[in-house]
This record gives sequence, structure tokens and C-alpha cells, in this order.
Amino acid sequence: MNNTAMNNTAMTDQAWLIRGARPLGGQPADLLLADGLIQEVAGAGTAEAPVGAQVLDAAGLIALPGLVDLHTHLREPGREDAETVETGTAAAALGGFTAVHAMANTDPVADTAGVAEQIWRLGRQAGRCDVRPVGAVTTGLEGRRLAELGAMADSAARVRVFSDDGSCVADAVLMRRALEYVKAFDGVIAQHAQEPRLTDGAQVNEGEISGRLGLTGWPAVAEEAIIARDCLLAAHVGSALHVCHVSTAGSVEIIRWAKSKGWRVTAEVTPHHLLLTDDLAASYDPVYKVNPPLRTAADVAELRAGLADGTIDCVATDHAPHPLEDKETEWPVAANGMTGLETALRVVQEALVDTGLLDWAGVADRMSVRPALIGRLTGDGAPRHGAPLAAGSPASLVLYDPAGREVVDPATHASRSRNSPFAGMALPGRVVATFLRGTPTVLDGKLAR
Ligand SMILES: [Zn+2]
Ligand SMILES: [Zn+2]
Repeated sequence: MNNTAMNNTAMTDQAWLIRGARPLGGQPADLLLADGLIQEVAGAGTAEAPVGAQVLDAAGLIALPGLVDLHTHLREPGREDAETVETGTAAAALGGFTAVHAMANTDPVADTAGVAEQIWRLGRQAGRCDVRPVGAVTTGLEGRRLAELGAMADSAARVRVFSDDGSCVADAVLMRRALEYVKAFDGVIAQHAQEPRLTDGAQVNEGEISGRLGLTGWPAVAEEAIIARDCLLAAHVGSALHVCHVSTAGSVEIIRWAKSKGWRVTAEVTPHHLLLTDDLAASYDPVYKVNPPLRTAADVAELRAGLADGTIDCVATDHAPHPLEDKETEWPVAANGMTGLETALRVVQEALVDTGLLDWAGVADRMSVRPALIGRLTGDGAPRHGAPLAAGSPASLVLYDPAGREVVDPATHASRSRNSPFAGMALPGRVVATFLRGTPTVLDGKLAR
């Protein structure tokens, strides 16, 4: 056995005693992690450290199950200048994530079992969080014919979430067929809801700001019309629809209605749509250019309320890294997208917890439990995520310090890109440590491996 192998073994076998953390923001407890599992949860100061265990003083820190992101752009293969699986999963770990779903709009597109398996393997090599490839719905994201959904589902990558994200599956017949097809293996179609004709050349939210700036508007109805159609299609064929990055008050209302019917519809909202509004576009700084666009304060209020009451199931980052040259240019030609992995939990604290809309148990539900369910990460061959912080669960968790407030500086981020819309903003909280199946990926706010 060489030294590297011995070190790896030592790391895997290292037991950790986390002293005095507050599971889901509740009473302080000791958590003993060993052999990849939570072995014991005991009253604070009562657990005995086994011989050789590392002890981590977590007084004041909140313990949450490792976060799960349903919507990450890792950019590899094809745009390694923007992000790689290595840098993207480093960013994820620093944000408290233990699993991310990697969107399919890479180059080549993840529309075959081969590309999906390549991304899955790169994630395993990086080893910082579980990378679950999202498969394309249509070949080349072109919206003409269905991709090899079954082959991707049967592959080693076990794809269960399919999306043409970046593009909308606009053709109703293709969308219906995709929904029907994935029923066979309990898959889900994640739709980027954007009626293409209604958003031709769109640059910002259609409203007062678009009028004032003289930029083509992206109307709320272009999102809402597709969501309504897809809810009806999902109900008609009895399949599972997931709505990506819900951004308007009307969308929340439609999803609430679909859920009241008992239809299999789930939805996500991004941190940026929970905190930022379209008046930021008045700066003409393309760091605020994103698709769907930032909306109004009234939309933000309804998105927060929808997440709080469970209409919107989860927070998903839509982490969309871009190199400087694609962002620091004129608004009309700048790329859409914002980074988000390293700030997501802090933004959720600011928008939902510190406003009294969600408690920490609610945050665990919306950022770990429910996204794990939607991503089919709750067992049956896939790595398990979103499990309760209890003996026998995988030791995948995040320790978070909600105290303090610090200005976001993207230069310190592990992401290869710097296009954070929160740059220069003071946000609360700090991810202190992340554990993936008992092994620390982040300690004292820094990468541990
Ligand atoms: Zn999208
Ligand atoms: Zn996206």
C-alpha cells in the first residue's frame, strides 16, 4: 500500500465527534460520525469521543442535512473556462452542498448515456459531493426529437431528472411524450418554462423597468403559459413535472392550483429571485442579467410566501458560471446567468429565516429533504441524501454559523467564474464545515480536500 492509499484509508475511517451543534436549529447535541454514518446523537457534552476520533467544537453552529441542488451548471465538458466539475463541486461543498444535479447544456450535450456517465465519473473523481447528471429531454437540446432517455436512466449514472434547461421544451407533443416516457423508471421532466415566441429578443422583465430602459421585455405570461400547459399535460398522462426557477407571482398561483388537484407537480426558486429585483437592471450591469429575469418586489414577496407555505418545494441555485468576457460586455450581448452555490444558504437566511418566514427545520426541508426526493436521491441504488440527522443516517451534513454578516467577495470563491450578483452585498452567516458520508469536504470555511 502506498502513502496515498494509506491516507485515503485513514480519512475514510476517521471518526468525528461534533460537540454542541444545534440540529435544525434546536437544542445543542453531540453528533458522532463514523464509517460514513451518524452513529449517535446525544445531549450536548454527553457523548464519549472514541479513541482516535477528531473532536470539532460546534457550539453555536446549526447542523443541517447536506444541501442538495437540483439545478447546477458545471459547464464540463465544453466550457472548462467557465467551470469544471472540480471547481464547481468545490464551490458546492463550500456552500454546504453534498449533492448537485448537473444540467445537460454542456458541449457535447448530455443527451446520451456516454456523456451522462462521463460527468458522473468526473464527479466521483472530484469526490467533494455527489454529482447527478441531468439528461437532455431532446437531442442536442434542439426540441425536435426525444433524446435516449431510457439509455440514460439505465446507465451507471442512473439519470432520473431530464431537462433541456437553457431552452424550453416548447412543443406540446414532445413534452407529452417525454412525460409519458419517464413514467417507466419514475423519472421527472424539469422544464425551463419560457414560451419562445413571447420572449423573442427579451432582455429584462417586461414592465416599468423595461419601458424605461428601452430593452425588450420578458413577460410573466411567457413563463406562466408554459407552466399551466405543462401542469395540464402532467395531469393528463399521470407523470411528474418539475418547474425550474419559478420567477413570477402568477406562476406560484398556478402551481398552488395544480397541487390542490393532487397532480405530481414540484417547483424550485433560485436564491437570486428570492432577494433581487428588476430595478437592478437600471445599472446596465450585466451581472444582473439572468434567464428568467429578475422580477418585481411583488413577485419576490409571492415567491417567498410560496416557498414558505410549500407551494414551491425547494431552493435551487441555477448556478450559471460565465467567464469575464461573456459577462463584462454590453447588456444586450452579455450571457444570461449568475453564480450561486457559495452564497445560497446565506441568501436563504437573509430572505426567509431573518424575515421570520422559515425556521431552520424549514430550510432543511427546502434545501435538502425535498430536493433529494425530487432528484430521486432517497435510496434504491442512488446515494442517499436529505435523511434526518439521526443515528443510522448517512453522515452528510453542514455546520452553519448564522451569526455575523460579511460582504460577498467573488474573488474568494472556488468557482472558476466571478459573476455573483451578490458581490459587494453584506449577507449573514457562514458555512463552517461540510461532511460527505463522514468525511469533511470543508473545515473552518475552507476546502478540506
Ligand atoms: Zn433555465
Ligand atoms: Zn439553468
